[in-house]
Amino acid sequence: MFETDTIRSAVSTAKSYFPEIQALYQRLPETRCECSRPGVCCVYLPEMTFMEAMQWMEILLDMEPPRRIEKIKKIVEFYLVTPLRSVGCPFLENGACTIYPFRPFACRAYGLWSQERGAQRTRQSIEDRKSLVKQWERFGIFFPKQWTGGEIDYCREATWTSPAVSDTDLMRILEAIYRTDDPLFELKAEFENALHSDFSFLVTTLVLGYQKAVLAKYAVIKEMVREKKEDRIKSYLKKISL
Ligand code: SF4
Repeated sequence: MFETDTIRSAVSTAKSYFPEIQALYQRLPETRCECSRPGVCCVYLPEMTFMEAMQWMEILLDMEPPRRIEKIKKIVEFYLVTPLRSVGCPFLENGACTIYPFRPFACRAYGLWSQERGAQRTRQSIEDRKSLVKQWERFGIFFPKQWTGGEIDYCREATWTSPAVSDTDLMRILEAIYRTDDPLFELKAEFENALHSDFSFLVTTLVLGYQKAVLAKYAVIKEMVREKKEDRIKSYLKKISL
């Protein structure tokens, strides 16, 4: 399972593939968003490939320690309270993306998919979240009736600066980004299978260890749902230090 040294070494291998990923990103038109609620589409962490996760890991490792701790706490909080409550993407600050050049394909393609495909992806996310809630119910945790899943409708307001790309083109670019994971195949498989390609799960695993991350999430959600308290999450976050 992932440990800090494994990740440091993965980042150092991954670095040489970052320019290739950035070149693939350049094949996407730049989107413009002038809606009245900027950042509202950043309510969840985007899905990402392992190499994209390593790009984010490098950003975290390069941060000054106080800022790194602040970000790690946000990421761990995101992991522990999702899907009951969304605290938004940890890199969103004052309605703006603080890692814009390194936002993954999922963020860049948002608004570029056809309305039909985008709406289909949104429906799929809602269904996935619902089935997640069913899994919690199997453990005796019942989410409040007013819980909606927090998914927003697919954006209809994005515009782009260069010619549009088709859904097929987008899939081709995404596949090419996936292929950059090949040199780190074993870690990529672990990231996808054990951590569901969830960057917040990866960071929490590095902080607490895999098993404790899973148990902590259960304990935090259970306390929030059954006792309407947030003592555990506060205690976990307080303990995080470099
Ligand atoms: S990486 Fe940036 S664009 Fe993507 S969800 Fe986070 S804040 Fe939003």
